[in-house]
Amino acid sequence: MKLIILGAPGSGKGTTATVLREKYDLAHISTGDIFRANIKNGTELGIEAKSYIDKGALVPDSVTIRMVEDRLSQDDVKNGYILDGFPRTLAQAEALDEILAKNGSSIDAVLSIVVDDEIIKDRVSSRRVCEKCGASFNVRFKPTKVEGICDECGGNVIQRADDKAETVAARLKTYYENTKPLVDFYEARGLIVEGSNDRSSDECIAQIEDGLKAKGLI
Ligand code: ADP
Ligand code: ZN
Repeated sequence: MKLIILGAPGSGKGTTATVLREKYDLAHISTGDIFRANIKNGTELGIEAKSYIDKGALVPDSVTIRMVEDRLSQDDVKNGYILDGFPRTLAQAEALDEILAKNGSSIDAVLSIVVDDEIIKDRVSSRRVCEKCGASFNVRFKPTKVEGICDECGGNVIQRADDKAETVAARLKTYYENTKPLVDFYEARGLIVEGSNDRSSDECIAQIEDGLKAKGLI
């Protein structure tokens, strides 16, 4: 099963993708996580990406597309995967079609996570992530057992630089301008499976699974 997950920053797409990855044994390809790993390791890609990410802007398509093409050529994607955070622009979506077409492959479904904007701003400002393993927490809704320490791996739990209120507004704007149109792009192909994540993550996942069943994918 080859999936894309679309949703605003803070919509919970990363959390949803993590649950589905484990349940259906998919590779989880998060472009945000790949960029953050590169930033942490001080690679050339990381240095370039950081200047955009810190502003809440998108990393240029050429850089991002090359990175994803490389990731999709690795062995662990053979059983299926979930693309989280890519594509984010129409140019990226078209490039993805071309990359997949080279292998006679295509996307099976596009999960669209829908959340009210006010809820998003609220959630992102209280979101915290583990520096080491990327696990995500929330000081209000899902606190760590010990303050500042990851429940999963004992790593340091911090606020992402781009989760500060000033940057969140820029990221939401970027999302509506560049990424939201992709919902229509994939809707026209009949690929959209919607999940409403205003309330609980479990309900959202159940709704998505119903949609995947209706498509005969699970
Ligand atoms: P979120 O969805 O919560 O905004 P991500 O972890 O997916 O967070 O992405 C963090 C940042 O990484 C984005 O704001 C953007 O700057 C950059 N980024 C991630 N994926 C892409 C992409 N496909 N194209 C361009 N920039 C990207
Ligand atoms: Zn951790």
